[in-house]
Amino acid sequence: MKIILLGPPGAGKGTQAASIREKYGIPHISTGDIFRENVRLGSPLGVEARKYMDAGQLVPDNLVVSMVADRLEKPDCVRGFLLDGFPRTLPQAEALDSYLTSKGTVLDGVILLDVDDETVVLRLSGRRVCRACGQIYHSTFKPSRSGNRCEVCGGETYQRDDDTEKVIRNRLTVYHQQTTPLISFYKEKGILRAVDAKASSGNVMNAIESLCANRS
Ligand code: AMP
Repeated sequence: MKIILLGPPGAGKGTQAASIREKYGIPHISTGDIFRENVRLGSPLGVEARKYMDAGQLVPDNLVVSMVADRLEKPDCVRGFLLDGFPRTLPQAEALDSYLTSKGTVLDGVILLDVDDETVVLRLSGRRVCRACGQIYHSTFKPSRSGNRCEVCGGETYQRDDDTEKVIRNRLTVYHQQTTPLISFYKEKGILRAVDAKASSGNVMNAIESLCANRS
């Protein structure tokens, strides 16, 4: 299965991806997570990416595309992958298409998680993430029972630098300007499936399951 999860920040892509990875045994490739890991390690890519990330801007296409192409070469991608946060611009989508064509393969589907801006702001401004295991909490809707510690592994929970309201609104503007053109791009290819991401998370799994059923 080669799937893209498309949608604004805060649509729940990371949460959904975790269940998909578990159920289908395909790697979850989140470009945001790879950048954050590079920032944490202080790698040259991380230092460069951070300038954009902290402002809620997109990292330049050439950096993202080569990073994703490297990741897709890893052996765990032979049975497929789930892309989360990539592509985010038309040039990225075109680069992904060319890459897959060069490997003699195509995408199985693109799942669009649909959610309105105000819901995104509410979700992201309360989001807390465990530094150690990545478990996601919400200060109001899903607080950790262990306070500032993760209830799964005891790690420290924190608010991402780009989850403040000002930066969230910037990220939404960037999404509407640069990423929404991908909706028509994939619609025209006949592989887009839109799911209401405000409703139950089961909807997304149903969409994936029907994608799988249509393949076999
Ligand atoms: P995310 O966790 O997916 O919200 O990504 C966090 C930040 O990483 C974004 O706001 C961008 O600065 C950067 N980023 C992640 N994926 C991409 C991408 N495909 N293209 C450009 N920048 C990206």
